[in-house]
Amino acid sequence: MSLRGRFAPSPTGRIHLGNARSALLGWLQARAAEGRFLLRIEDLDRARCRPAFLDDLYRDLTWLGLDWDEPPLVQSERGEVYQAALETLERAGRVYPCFCTRAEIARAASAPHGLGEEGPRYPGTCAALTPEARAARAATRPPAWRFQAIPGEWCFEDGLHGRYCQDVAAAVGDFVVRRNDGVASYQLAVVVDDAASGITDVLRGDDLLSSTPRQLQLYDALGVRPPRFWHVPLVLGEDGKRLAKREGAFAVAELRERGIAVERVLGLLAAWSGLGDGTPVTLEELIHRFRPELLPRTPVVAHETLLKEA
Ligand code: GLU
Repeated sequence: MSLRGRFAPSPTGRIHLGNARSALLGWLQARAAEGRFLLRIEDLDRARCRPAFLDDLYRDLTWLGLDWDEPPLVQSERGEVYQAALETLERAGRVYPCFCTRAEIARAASAPHGLGEEGPRYPGTCAALTPEARAARAATRPPAWRFQAIPGEWCFEDGLHGRYCQDVAAAVGDFVVRRNDGVASYQLAVVVDDAASGITDVLRGDDLLSSTPRQLQLYDALGVRPPRFWHVPLVLGEDGKRLAKREGAFAVAELRERGIAVERVLGLLAAWSGLGDGTPVTLEELIHRFRPELLPRTPVVAHETLLKEA
């Protein structure tokens, strides 16, 4: 099967050069393999997504020359698809309704062993509710739905990080697949959509490495073969922290609006990707240079001076 990759941004801010590098590397991986590259708009977090950020995103990608081969999936339009997946999981007895408030979970988590790797570990309170208790609580608030984490180490071979294992049940506990406002969680939506799009290779920032075992458990429960994963170490600011969308200096739209030549920006992204020395470069040239074994394995620091010179 030929390679199918994707870029799946959330329009919660102007994309920065770190996001652009992930998009570029995913695009190069697909183009170098003569595969397909898809765009998906991850806009489930309605409170944080803005149409203006989406407009900027399309403009930025077009300016960079990163195209996509099929109409983008837009997550906010796919509620029924996620609902169907939830029902599949429900029929299989893999999910249950959870009525806990954040405060209840935080209280339970302050007990010994309550804190997981990623904040409060869900203690499984609602897994044990009797049908009567469930009905009584359902009258007071709408439930979230949680997937029953499969106990034990869950491992996979990442294209860049090598073998990565996590005991999901111990680290995060049963995790949310549908929020109590009825919206699918990121973990469920990303799996359903990558499966629906036939994605073979997911290249994304390694801030999502620790989400992957959860996603693999969902692939397993839905009976879908998972893609290969390539978790690229992040681009960091000079303070050593990951770039944030609100940091204007590295926003692609800002560079575009300043009239900087796109080849200079591509040159910078190439330098951060082991594909160049920072001199201006075209996408065509980068397709020739791209090799999966050159993909970055360590974080890079974005120095603002480089942008001033660019
Ligand atoms: N929408 C996520 C983000 O912008 C990326 C999801 C993914 O690539 O799996 O961080």
